[in-house]
Amino acid sequence: MKIALFSSMSYDVEYFELANRSYQFDITHFEARLKPHTAHLASGFNAVCVFVNDVVNRESLTILKDHGVKIVALRCAGFNNVDLAAAKSLGITIVRVPAYSPEAVAEHALALILTLNRKTHKAYNRVREGNFSLERLTGFNLTGKVVGIVGIGKIGTAFSSIMKGIGCRVIAYDKYQDKKLIKSGIEYVSLEKLLSLSDIISLHCPLTPETAYLVNRQTIAMMKHGVMLINTSRGGLVDTHDAIESLKSGQLGYLGIDVYEQEEKLFFRDRSEEILQDDEIARLMSFPNVLITAHQAFFTREALEQIASTTLGNLKAFFENEAVLNEVIYSDV
Ligand code: NAD
Repeated sequence: MKIALFSSMSYDVEYFELANRSYQFDITHFEARLKPHTAHLASGFNAVCVFVNDVVNRESLTILKDHGVKIVALRCAGFNNVDLAAAKSLGITIVRVPAYSPEAVAEHALALILTLNRKTHKAYNRVREGNFSLERLTGFNLTGKVVGIVGIGKIGTAFSSIMKGIGCRVIAYDKYQDKKLIKSGIEYVSLEKLLSLSDIISLHCPLTPETAYLVNRQTIAMMKHGVMLINTSRGGLVDTHDAIESLKSGQLGYLGIDVYEQEEKLFFRDRSEEILQDDEIARLMSFPNVLITAHQAFFTREALEQIASTTLGNLKAFFENEAVLNEVIYSDV
Protein backbone atom coordinates (compact mmCIF):
# COMPACT_ATOMS: atom_id res chain seq x y z
CA MET A 1 0.00 0.00 0.00
CA LYS A 2 1.35 3.42 -0.99
CA ILE A 3 0.89 6.31 1.41
CA ALA A 4 1.52 9.99 0.58
CA LEU A 5 2.34 11.77 3.82
CA PHE A 6 1.84 15.53 3.50
CA SER A 7 3.27 18.35 5.68
CA SER A 8 6.06 16.00 6.67
CA MET A 9 8.74 17.22 9.07
CA SER A 10 11.93 15.48 10.22
CA TYR A 11 10.13 14.12 13.28
CA ASP A 12 7.36 12.63 11.09
CA VAL A 13 9.99 10.80 9.03
CA GLU A 14 11.70 9.56 12.20
CA TYR A 15 8.60 8.33 14.05
CA PHE A 16 6.75 6.96 11.00
CA GLU A 17 9.83 5.02 9.89
CA LEU A 18 10.09 3.49 13.36
CA ALA A 19 6.39 2.54 13.48
CA ASN A 20 6.47 1.30 9.88
CA ARG A 21 8.96 -1.45 10.79
CA SER A 22 5.89 -3.43 11.90
CA TYR A 23 3.81 -2.58 8.82
CA GLN A 24 6.23 -2.28 5.85
CA PHE A 25 4.05 0.20 3.95
CA ASP A 26 5.49 2.24 1.10
CA ILE A 27 5.48 5.77 2.56
CA THR A 28 6.52 8.87 0.62
CA HIS A 29 7.02 12.05 2.62
CA PHE A 30 6.04 15.39 1.08
CA GLU A 31 7.04 18.61 2.81
CA ALA A 32 4.17 20.38 1.03
CA ARG A 33 0.86 20.96 2.77
CA LEU A 34 -2.10 19.23 1.14
CA LYS A 35 -4.24 21.79 -0.66
CA PRO A 36 -5.94 21.82 -4.07
CA HIS A 37 -2.70 23.04 -5.65
CA THR A 38 -0.61 20.11 -4.26
CA ALA A 39 -3.23 17.34 -4.20
CA HIS A 40 -1.91 16.02 -7.57
CA LEU A 41 1.19 14.79 -5.69
CA ALA A 42 -1.04 11.97 -4.45
CA SER A 43 -1.27 10.49 -7.94
CA GLY A 44 -0.50 6.77 -7.72
CA PHE A 45 -1.08 6.56 -3.96
CA ASN A 46 -3.87 4.61 -2.20
CA ALA A 47 -3.86 6.66 0.96
CA VAL A 48 -3.03 10.16 2.09
CA CYS A 49 -1.87 11.16 5.55
CA VAL A 50 -2.34 14.75 6.73
CA PHE A 51 -1.93 17.00 9.76
CA VAL A 52 -3.81 19.91 11.36
CA ASN A 53 -3.29 22.61 8.73
CA ASP A 54 -3.66 20.60 5.55
CA VAL A 55 -6.60 21.79 3.49
CA VAL A 56 -8.92 18.81 3.14
CA ASN A 57 -11.74 20.67 1.42
CA ARG A 58 -14.03 19.51 -1.38
CA GLU A 59 -11.57 20.62 -4.06
CA SER A 60 -8.63 18.72 -2.55
CA LEU A 61 -10.80 15.66 -1.92
CA THR A 62 -12.15 15.65 -5.49
CA ILE A 63 -8.60 15.67 -6.87
CA LEU A 64 -7.58 12.89 -4.45
CA LYS A 65 -10.59 10.84 -5.53
CA ASP A 66 -9.70 11.31 -9.21
CA HIS A 67 -6.23 9.93 -8.39
CA GLY A 68 -7.72 6.84 -6.75
CA VAL A 69 -7.15 7.78 -3.10
CA LYS A 70 -9.57 5.85 -0.90
CA ILE A 71 -8.70 7.10 2.56
CA VAL A 72 -7.35 10.21 4.27
CA ALA A 73 -5.67 9.47 7.60
CA LEU A 74 -5.40 12.43 9.95
CA ARG A 75 -2.38 12.11 12.24
CA CYS A 76 -4.14 14.30 14.83
CA ALA A 77 -7.33 14.35 16.90
CA GLY A 78 -9.10 17.47 15.56
CA PHE A 79 -10.79 17.24 12.15
CA ASN A 80 -12.06 20.81 11.69
CA ASN A 81 -9.92 21.10 8.50
CA VAL A 82 -11.87 18.34 6.72
CA ASP A 83 -15.04 18.79 4.68
CA LEU A 84 -16.72 15.65 5.99
CA ALA A 85 -19.83 16.10 3.86
CA ALA A 86 -17.65 16.22 0.73
CA ALA A 87 -15.65 13.16 1.86
CA LYS A 88 -18.88 11.24 2.41
CA SER A 89 -20.32 12.16 -0.97
CA LEU A 90 -17.04 11.25 -2.71
CA GLY A 91 -16.77 7.95 -0.83
CA ILE A 92 -13.44 8.80 0.82
CA THR A 93 -12.98 7.42 4.32
CA ILE A 94 -11.55 9.76 6.97
CA VAL A 95 -9.76 8.34 10.00
CA ARG A 96 -7.96 10.10 12.83
CA VAL A 97 -6.03 9.52 16.05
CA PRO A 98 -8.68 10.31 18.66
CA ALA A 99 -6.39 9.98 21.67
CA TYR A 100 -2.62 9.82 21.62
CA SER A 101 -1.51 11.56 24.74
CA PRO A 102 -4.04 13.85 26.38
CA GLU A 103 -1.42 14.39 29.08
CA ALA A 104 0.99 15.92 26.55
CA VAL A 105 -1.46 18.72 25.74
CA ALA A 106 -2.62 19.13 29.34
CA GLU A 107 0.97 19.44 30.56
CA HIS A 108 1.70 22.05 27.91
CA ALA A 109 -1.31 24.07 29.09
CA LEU A 110 0.29 23.99 32.55
CA ALA A 111 3.62 25.11 31.05
CA LEU A 112 1.89 28.14 29.51
CA ILE A 113 0.22 28.98 32.82
CA LEU A 114 3.41 28.70 34.85
CA THR A 115 5.50 30.67 32.38
CA LEU A 116 2.95 33.48 32.08
CA ASN A 117 2.47 33.60 35.83
CA ARG A 118 6.03 33.21 37.16
CA LYS A 119 7.75 34.78 34.11
CA THR A 120 10.49 32.17 34.00
CA HIS A 121 11.25 33.06 30.36
CA LYS A 122 12.11 36.61 31.43
CA ALA A 123 14.03 35.47 34.51
CA TYR A 124 16.11 33.12 32.33
CA ASN A 125 17.19 35.95 30.02
CA ARG A 126 17.76 38.40 32.87
CA VAL A 127 20.07 36.09 34.79
CA ARG A 128 22.05 35.22 31.64
CA GLU A 129 22.70 38.95 31.23
CA GLY A 130 23.79 39.36 34.83
CA ASN A 131 20.52 41.05 35.85
CA PHE A 132 19.46 39.54 39.18
CA SER A 133 16.63 42.02 39.84
CA LEU A 134 13.18 40.71 40.77
CA GLU A 135 11.40 43.89 39.65
CA ARG A 136 8.20 43.13 37.67
CA LEU A 137 8.54 39.35 38.05
CA THR A 138 5.75 39.08 40.66
CA GLY A 139 3.42 36.12 40.12
CA PHE A 140 0.50 34.67 42.04
CA ASN A 141 -0.09 31.41 43.92
CA LEU A 142 -2.05 28.91 41.85
CA THR A 143 -3.23 27.11 44.98
CA GLY A 144 -6.79 28.13 45.76
CA LYS A 145 -7.45 29.75 42.39
CA VAL A 146 -10.49 28.83 40.29
CA VAL A 147 -9.66 27.10 37.00
CA GLY A 148 -12.45 26.90 34.41
CA ILE A 149 -12.23 24.19 31.76
CA VAL A 150 -14.31 24.59 28.61
CA GLY A 151 -14.77 21.13 27.10
CA ILE A 152 -13.83 18.44 29.58
CA GLY A 153 -13.07 15.43 27.39
CA LYS A 154 -9.79 13.52 27.37
CA ILE A 155 -7.45 16.53 27.48
CA GLY A 156 -9.71 18.57 29.77
CA THR A 157 -9.86 15.65 32.22
CA ALA A 158 -6.07 15.24 32.25
CA PHE A 159 -5.70 18.99 32.75
CA SER A 160 -8.25 18.93 35.57
CA SER A 161 -6.23 16.27 37.45
CA ILE A 162 -3.07 18.37 37.15
CA MET A 163 -4.73 21.56 38.37
CA LYS A 164 -6.48 19.77 41.23
CA GLY A 165 -3.10 18.34 42.23
CA ILE A 166 -1.77 21.88 42.46
CA GLY A 167 -4.65 22.79 44.78
CA CYS A 168 -6.93 24.71 42.41
CA ARG A 169 -10.71 24.54 42.45
CA VAL A 170 -11.69 23.15 39.06
CA ILE A 171 -15.03 23.95 37.41
CA ALA A 172 -16.07 22.81 33.97
CA TYR A 173 -18.49 23.58 31.19
CA ASP A 174 -19.28 20.98 28.56
CA LYS A 175 -22.03 20.45 26.06
CA TYR A 176 -22.51 16.98 27.56
CA GLN A 177 -22.09 16.05 31.21
CA ASP A 178 -20.27 12.82 31.99
CA LYS A 179 -21.62 10.91 35.01
CA LYS A 180 -18.20 9.35 35.67
CA LEU A 181 -16.65 12.79 35.89
CA ILE A 182 -19.40 14.02 38.22
CA LYS A 183 -18.69 10.99 40.44
CA SER A 184 -14.99 11.82 40.39
CA GLY A 185 -15.82 15.28 41.74
CA ILE A 186 -15.96 17.46 38.63
CA GLU A 187 -18.17 20.48 39.23
CA TYR A 188 -20.12 21.29 36.06
CA VAL A 189 -21.38 24.86 35.71
CA SER A 190 -22.96 26.93 32.95
CA LEU A 191 -20.63 28.71 30.54
CA GLU A 192 -21.70 32.07 31.99
CA LYS A 193 -20.86 30.94 35.52
CA LEU A 194 -17.52 29.52 34.43
CA LEU A 195 -16.58 32.76 32.71
CA SER A 196 -17.48 34.90 35.71
CA LEU A 197 -15.90 32.70 38.42
CA SER A 198 -12.60 31.61 36.88
CA ASP A 199 -9.15 33.09 37.51
CA ILE A 200 -7.79 30.91 34.71
CA ILE A 201 -9.83 29.67 31.74
CA SER A 202 -8.49 26.86 29.58
CA LEU A 203 -10.15 25.85 26.30
CA HIS A 204 -10.31 22.13 25.51
CA CYS A 205 -13.40 21.79 23.30
CA PRO A 206 -13.15 21.08 19.56
CA LEU A 207 -13.58 23.78 16.94
CA THR A 208 -17.05 23.39 15.43
CA PRO A 209 -19.50 25.92 13.94
CA GLU A 210 -20.97 26.11 17.45
CA THR A 211 -17.69 26.84 19.25
CA ALA A 212 -16.16 29.17 16.64
CA TYR A 213 -15.31 32.51 18.34
CA LEU A 214 -16.56 31.17 21.67
CA VAL A 215 -14.21 33.75 23.14
CA ASN A 216 -15.27 37.13 21.81
CA ARG A 217 -15.95 40.68 23.00
CA GLN A 218 -19.18 39.65 24.81
CA THR A 219 -17.83 36.53 26.53
CA ILE A 220 -14.58 38.26 27.52
CA ALA A 221 -16.67 41.01 29.16
CA MET A 222 -18.25 38.30 31.36
CA MET A 223 -14.81 37.20 32.64
CA LYS A 224 -13.01 38.47 35.75
CA HIS A 225 -10.87 41.53 35.12
CA GLY A 226 -7.28 40.35 34.62
CA VAL A 227 -8.25 36.73 33.87
CA MET A 228 -5.73 34.32 32.33
CA LEU A 229 -6.92 32.66 29.11
CA ILE A 230 -5.20 29.54 27.77
CA ASN A 231 -5.96 28.04 24.37
CA THR A 232 -4.29 24.78 23.37
CA SER A 233 -7.29 23.60 21.35
CA ARG A 234 -7.87 25.43 18.06
CA GLY A 235 -7.21 29.06 17.09
CA GLY A 236 -10.71 29.61 15.73
CA LEU A 237 -12.18 29.38 19.24
CA VAL A 238 -10.89 32.88 19.97
CA ASP A 239 -11.70 36.08 18.09
CA THR A 240 -8.15 37.43 17.86
CA HIS A 241 -9.22 41.02 17.23
CA ASP A 242 -11.40 41.03 20.37
CA ALA A 243 -8.63 39.37 22.39
CA ILE A 244 -6.19 42.12 21.36
CA GLU A 245 -8.67 44.85 22.38
CA SER A 246 -9.20 43.13 25.75
CA LEU A 247 -5.45 42.83 26.33
CA LYS A 248 -5.12 46.55 25.64
CA SER A 249 -7.83 47.39 28.19
CA GLY A 250 -6.43 44.94 30.78
CA GLN A 251 -9.64 42.87 30.87
CA LEU A 252 -7.53 39.95 29.68
CA GLY A 253 -4.59 39.86 32.07
CA TYR A 254 -2.68 37.03 30.41
CA LEU A 255 -3.05 35.10 27.19
CA GLY A 256 -1.30 31.80 26.50
CA ILE A 257 -1.92 30.27 23.09
CA ASP A 258 -0.53 27.22 21.35
CA VAL A 259 -2.93 27.67 18.45
CA TYR A 260 -3.79 30.70 16.35
CA GLU A 261 -6.65 31.51 14.02
CA GLN A 262 -4.38 32.11 11.01
CA GLU A 263 -1.71 29.60 12.00
CA GLU A 264 -1.77 27.66 8.72
CA LYS A 265 0.09 30.54 7.06
CA LEU A 266 2.77 30.62 9.79
CA PHE A 267 3.25 27.59 11.96
CA PHE A 268 5.58 24.60 11.52
CA ARG A 269 8.10 26.56 9.41
CA ASP A 270 11.11 28.79 10.19
CA ARG A 271 9.99 32.25 9.07
CA SER A 272 12.64 34.20 10.98
CA GLU A 273 14.07 35.74 7.79
CA GLU A 274 10.67 36.67 6.34
CA ILE A 275 8.73 39.90 6.74
CA LEU A 276 5.76 39.01 8.92
CA GLN A 277 2.59 39.84 6.99
CA ASP A 278 0.15 38.95 9.77
CA ASP A 279 -0.43 42.15 11.78
CA GLU A 280 -2.58 40.46 14.42
CA ILE A 281 0.05 37.96 15.49
CA ALA A 282 2.65 40.74 15.36
CA ARG A 283 0.47 42.77 17.77
CA LEU A 284 0.00 39.72 20.02
CA MET A 285 3.76 39.13 20.06
CA SER A 286 4.28 42.70 21.29
CA PHE A 287 2.40 42.17 24.60
CA PRO A 288 4.54 41.25 27.62
CA ASN A 289 1.65 39.19 29.03
CA VAL A 290 1.09 37.05 25.93
CA LEU A 291 2.88 33.76 25.37
CA ILE A 292 2.63 32.06 21.99
CA THR A 293 3.89 28.60 21.14
CA ALA A 294 3.54 27.22 17.61
CA HIS A 295 1.18 24.24 18.04
CA GLN A 296 3.60 22.16 20.05
CA ALA A 297 1.33 21.01 22.87
CA PHE A 298 1.13 17.49 21.40
CA PHE A 299 4.88 17.36 20.80
CA THR A 300 6.27 14.67 23.10
CA ARG A 301 8.06 11.43 22.24
CA GLU A 302 5.19 9.41 23.66
CA ALA A 303 2.60 11.26 21.58
CA LEU A 304 4.63 10.99 18.35
CA GLU A 305 5.02 7.22 18.84
CA GLN A 306 1.32 6.82 19.48
CA ILE A 307 0.33 9.03 16.53
CA ALA A 308 2.48 7.06 14.08
CA SER A 309 1.42 3.61 15.29
CA THR A 310 -2.31 4.46 15.48
CA THR A 311 -2.26 6.09 12.03
CA LEU A 312 -0.60 3.08 10.42
CA GLY A 313 -2.93 0.74 12.38
CA ASN A 314 -5.93 2.68 11.03
CA LEU A 315 -4.64 2.28 7.46
CA LYS A 316 -3.88 -1.43 7.91
CA ALA A 317 -7.39 -2.10 9.23
CA PHE A 318 -8.94 -0.23 6.31
CA PHE A 319 -6.93 -1.97 3.57
CA GLU A 320 -7.19 -5.42 5.10
CA ASN A 321 -10.99 -5.06 5.26
CA GLU A 322 -11.02 -5.22 9.01
CA ALA A 323 -13.45 -2.99 10.90
CA VAL A 324 -12.54 0.64 10.11
CA LEU A 325 -10.88 2.02 13.21
CA ASN A 326 -11.24 5.60 14.39
CA GLU A 327 -13.38 6.70 11.46
CA VAL A 328 -14.68 10.26 11.51
CA ILE A 329 -18.24 10.17 10.28
CA TYR A 330 -20.25 13.08 8.99
CA SER A 331 -22.64 13.05 11.97
CA ASP A 332 -19.65 13.59 14.33
CA VAL A 333 -19.83 17.31 13.52
P1 NAD B 1 -12.47 15.11 23.36
O1 NAD B 1 -13.42 14.80 22.25
O2 NAD B 1 -12.05 13.99 24.26
O3 NAD B 1 -13.07 16.27 24.29
C1 NAD B 1 -13.71 17.41 23.77
C2 NAD B 1 -14.77 17.82 24.77
O4 NAD B 1 -15.39 19.02 24.29
C3 NAD B 1 -15.91 16.77 24.93
O5 NAD B 1 -16.15 16.53 26.29
C4 NAD B 1 -17.10 17.44 24.25
O6 NAD B 1 -18.35 17.06 24.82
C5 NAD B 1 -16.79 18.90 24.48
N1 NAD B 1 -17.53 19.79 23.59
C6 NAD B 1 -17.92 19.56 22.29
N2 NAD B 1 -18.63 20.61 21.83
C7 NAD B 1 -18.70 21.50 22.85
C8 NAD B 1 -19.32 22.75 23.00
N3 NAD B 1 -20.03 23.30 22.00
N4 NAD B 1 -19.18 23.40 24.18
C9 NAD B 1 -18.49 22.84 25.20
N5 NAD B 1 -17.90 21.63 25.13
C10 NAD B 1 -18.01 20.97 23.97
O7 NAD B 1 -11.20 15.79 22.66
P2 NAD B 1 -9.75 15.96 23.29
O8 NAD B 1 -8.90 14.82 22.88
O9 NAD B 1 -9.85 16.34 24.71
O10 NAD B 1 -9.21 17.21 22.41
C11 NAD B 1 -9.81 18.49 22.52
C12 NAD B 1 -9.27 19.38 21.43
O11 NAD B 1 -7.88 19.65 21.66
C13 NAD B 1 -9.28 18.77 20.02
O12 NAD B 1 -10.54 18.97 19.39
C14 NAD B 1 -8.19 19.53 19.31
O13 NAD B 1 -8.78 20.66 18.68
C15 NAD B 1 -7.28 20.01 20.44
N6 NAD B 1 -5.93 19.43 20.39
C16 NAD B 1 -4.87 20.26 20.34
C17 NAD B 1 -3.58 19.74 20.32
C18 NAD B 1 -2.36 20.62 20.29
O14 NAD B 1 -1.25 20.13 20.02
N7 NAD B 1 -2.47 21.90 20.57
C19 NAD B 1 -3.40 18.35 20.32
C20 NAD B 1 -4.53 17.53 20.39
C21 NAD B 1 -5.79 18.07 20.42
